[in-house]
Amino acid sequence: LTPPPTGPVIKFRPIIISGPSGVGKGTLIQMLHEKHPGMVTKTVSHTTRQPRQGEIEGENYFFISKAKFRSLISKNAFVEYTYFSGNYYGTSKKTVKDQTAKGMIVVLEIDIEGVKQMRKATDIDASYVFIKPPSFEELETRLRNRSTETEESIEQRLQQAKQELEQADTPGLYDMVLVNEDIAVSYGKLENFIWRLSADMMLK
Ligand code: 5GP
Repeated sequence: LTPPPTGPVIKFRPIIISGPSGVGKGTLIQMLHEKHPGMVTKTVSHTTRQPRQGEIEGENYFFISKAKFRSLISKNAFVEYTYFSGNYYGTSKKTVKDQTAKGMIVVLEIDIEGVKQMRKATDIDASYVFIKPPSFEELETRLRNRSTETEESIEQRLQQAKQELEQADTPGLYDMVLVNEDIAVSYGKLENFIWRLSADMMLK
């Protein structure tokens, strides 16, 4: 039997990824995870929305009630949380801490309001990436083609997207803004950004 490795675990700075619904950020995160399964991990958020077809509890989200979510808010259990399109979404501190402590690069998918909360929080040292569509029209097409949403939900997401796109270039908010025209090219850029940072990405 080989004894478990001793010595300090290198702790990497978490990577925050945001961008409008339908922009392809989920695909990019999935690609990172598949290419570097032992190194890159995505945090699983809590949400009060209903699971979509095919979504798995504990894998896509932890699906919880609004009462339970509010109780966790009052216990200060979230790194950040938001109320979006009629539901709460949040990332628990425990999830981030547990994964970082294992030496993993933790990837968080959160919206712009969550990013503002995290930028204000002094105890979270992270790198921030925003994914943009080539155009607003392209985003609308992608969102409609995904056909997982009702018309009302599509309209809400487009409205939200418009506001997010207007704010994405605010100085000091994101470290990199990436236009997702071609998924393979975008993936390469994202990976480069992460590796380029890795030299000074270690948390003290
Ligand atoms: P969806 O319902 O399409 O899965 O997600 C809706 C929005 O909630 C997306 O913009 C997504 O990035 C955001 N979201 C997902 N998880 C979290 C989270 O933990 N915190 C915040 N602030 N936003 C989240």
